[in-house]
Parts: sequence; C-alpha cells; structure tokens
Amino acid sequence: MHAAQIVKVKKPLEIEELDVPEPRGSEVLIRVKSAGVCHSDIHLWEGGYEGPGGKFLKTTDRGVKYPLTPGHEVAGIIDSIGEKAEGFVKKERVLVFPWIGEGLCPACRVGEENLCDKPRSLGVYQNGGYAEYVLVPSYKYLVKLGNMDTDTSAPLSCAGITAYSAVKNAHLKPADNVVIVGAGGLGLMAIQLAKAVTGARIISLDIDDKKLKVAKLNGADSIVNSKSENVKKSIMELTEDLGVDAVIDFVNGSKTVETDMTILRRRARIVLVGLFGGALQLNLVSMPTKAYKIVGSYTGSITDMIELVSLAKRKVIKPVISNKFSLNQATKALTMLRDGKIAGRGIINP
Ligand SMILES: [Zn+2]
Ligand SMILES: [Zn+2]
Repeated sequence: MHAAQIVKVKKPLEIEELDVPEPRGSEVLIRVKSAGVCHSDIHLWEGGYEGPGGKFLKTTDRGVKYPLTPGHEVAGIIDSIGEKAEGFVKKERVLVFPWIGEGLCPACRVGEENLCDKPRSLGVYQNGGYAEYVLVPSYKYLVKLGNMDTDTSAPLSCAGITAYSAVKNAHLKPADNVVIVGAGGLGLMAIQLAKAVTGARIISLDIDDKKLKVAKLNGADSIVNSKSENVKKSIMELTEDLGVDAVIDFVNGSKTVETDMTILRRRARIVLVGLFGGALQLNLVSMPTKAYKIVGSYTGSITDMIELVSLAKRKVIKPVISNKFSLNQATKALTMLRDGKIAGRGIINP
C-alpha cells in the first residue's frame, strides 16, 4: 500500500510502498477514504513548535518517532477484521477515534483516553491516515457512520470533538451569555454546537468582518469585531453591564485571554482551547472573590465523538470541506494549510 510519510522533518513527505497490515485479535484494518489535514500535522512535519519564550519544543522529545504516517482524522471502510473484533462487519463505513491511550492511567480509567499519560494516538505516535490503509488497535475505537459522507465526517474526530468538548467544559445554561473567541473552523463548529445543545446566547468575537458574517449565519446572536471595536464596551452593552458567564477561546494567546478576563461576570468559566500561546498576568484576589474557573480543553473523548456523530447525522453540525487532495499532494496540502490558504478543512482522499 502507499503511504505519505514524514521521513525527515521539514522535507517533502515521501510516498512509501509499505506492506498492508494484517489485523490480529481485536484489531481492524480500515481502507482510508478521507483523512483530514489538521494544524497539528504541521507541527509533526516541522518537528515541533514554538513554546514559551520562543523555545522550540521538539516532537521527538515527546516520543514521536519518524518515519511517521500522519493523519488523525480518518474515515473509511472496514477492509478486514481480527478474530476477536466484535460488532462490525466488512465494508461498513466508520469514523476512527484517534486519541488512543494505554488504558491504565487515571484518565483512561474514566474514559478520557485523549488525556492519557502515555498517549498512543494514531497519526502522532503510530501510523495514521495519510495512507491507503490504517490499522486500528481495537474495534472499540470505531464509530459507525451509516450513510454519512466520509469527507465531512473525518474532521469530527479532531476539529469536531475539540469544539464540542470545549462547549461542554463551559457548562452553559440557557440564560447564559457566552463569548466564543475566533470564528474560524473550530469557532464556527462551537457556535453551531452551543446553539444546538445549550440554549445560551452566543456572542462571536473575531478580527475579521467576513468571518463574523459567517458566524452570524451559523447561529451567533451577536458579533463583535475585536479589532475595530472596544471589546469591553461592546460586551457590557450587550449584557446590560453584567459581563459574560463564559468565554471559550479558540485563539488562546496573551492578547485574547487578557481581554477575556475583562468581560467576565462572577462565577464565569474561561475555557482555553487554542494553541497560540503566550503568558497571562492574573489578578489573584479576583480569582476567589469572583469565583472564576479557568480550564484547559484538549480534543475530546470517544463519548464526545459518539454524541457528535449523532448530531452530525441530524445535520446539526456540518464541517466545511474546502479542498481535496490526493495522497501524492500531501505536502501541498500541508503547505497550503500552513500558509493560510485553506478556508475550511482540507481532506486527503487516498
Ligand atoms: Zn487535529
Ligand atoms: Zn492512559
């Protein structure tokens, strides 16, 4: 089979001829139809990312080994099944849960394998979906798609559950006001989801009027341009001087979070999701007196994915697929994403 692999970081991916894996025990072999191209694939390709103080954090220090087939947003068709795998048959359409843990740490024990101490994620720590086939370690990581399209389903396993779990972490109630920072792909999904499952009043914040227009079309009740408006003033006007009950920040840079901290009502939740990074100076006394909760939110659990697939089946949420690529174009796909030339989600169709 062919796989697009990162052999050397920052160099074009190489199309390798590999043996088709044979599923044993609980394993299942998937013929990949759609593999989403995610921002974190760029970090793998570049061999790391910029950490605090401009320090380069290497992927190999986190246990990533090259050559590696990236691709953690994988949807496809079951090709063959190990003798102990249950509940699935050949040719079924499935979405793969990629955030696989070792199964033993406290996070895994409560079903949060995405936060495992020793992660084994597909497309990060083991070969993923930029290939004709992917070997999934257990049938337990598969969710049936029925007739759903594989291209629009693939991004649910990373972009989708990240947005969904962030919305869950904000614990929104129908009378709440929530600010969603960033109206890109993830922010838009969060707006759709918050609208569908919480009843909260949604204020979308971005620096781009075009994106804000789309946010409004996707369910935002109000929009604020944080470049041209005084954010605090606009938010206080929208909330009768109360401030907001929650902020979900898909940028999560020093500047955005500093602003987030100025628009909060007592008991507010601040959910940090984006990976822009930086540092924050906190007024420590206001933390207890205003009872703020700052939480980080990273990908999501398989429970989140099952719920999300169910919502997607009913068309409550629909990722926007903007570009399609062949396996040979994997490097082009990553380059375009890095350069900001992919508006929705790029998909590789091996
Ligand atoms: Zn991802
Ligand atoms: Zn674990």
